[in-house]
Amino acid sequence: MGPRDDLARILQQISCPVCSGENIELAAARAAGARGVVCRTCEFRFEVIEDLDGLRRDSPAINRELAESFCPSCQATGGELLCRCDLPSRERYHVVRCLQCGFLYKREAPRA
Ligand SMILES: [Zn+2]
Ligand SMILES: [Zn+2]
Repeated sequence: MGPRDDLARILQQISCPVCSGENIELAAARAAGARGVVCRTCEFRFEVIEDLDGLRRDSPAINRELAESFCPSCQATGGELLCRCDLPSRERYHVVRCLQCGFLYKREAPRA
């Protein structure tokens, strides 16, 4: 499974930060490692960054944060980073998958 398939799978699982719609599609390629995506419900656009090594460099504390991350579904701690979403408002969040139950949830990420 290539990176593109991974992104398609992630896009199926994340929801729009504005309208909570789940119809997120790839919009256009941007900078390396970043993908523009668009919500088909409200047309909100944001970027998905899949370069996990780069994200770890940007957020040196990320591994510890993931280990302590709290799943809203099963209340277990420990998650795996899938991607980061960058909003035009400069808000950012990490999309995390619970290692116990597989639930996907968002965590605020540090601003650039
Ligand atoms: Zn939307
Ligand atoms: Zn869980």
